[in-house]
Amino acid sequence: MAIERKCPNCETWNSDNDYCTKCGTMISPIKIEEERERVREEIRQNAPLSKTDIFINNWKNSRFFLVRWLYKIVYTISVIFIGIASFFAWMAASPNG
Ligand SMILES: [Zn+2]
Repeated sequence: MAIERKCPNCETWNSDNDYCTKCGTMISPIKIEEERERVREEIRQNAPLSKTDIFINNWKNSRFFLVRWLYKIVYTISVIFIGIASFFAWMAASPNG
């Protein structure tokens, strides 16, 4: 079954092509979605780091051993803390608790 696709750019009807035969505009919905995803990913990667990210990166990559060490401790504590907090949240939500 042939699928007709109308080019959004020049309004030419194309058969099942990924690109418009007249102007070369991408008309495949899958290709368009892929392209959109790629652009989104690019924007995400190029997005400037937030102040918190910069702060954490400075900490993590610090040339001072003590700071890196401190980062690891704080990181571990926060992971444990989040773990405990979610455990209590689960306990509170549990009908048996
Ligand atoms: Zn076209």
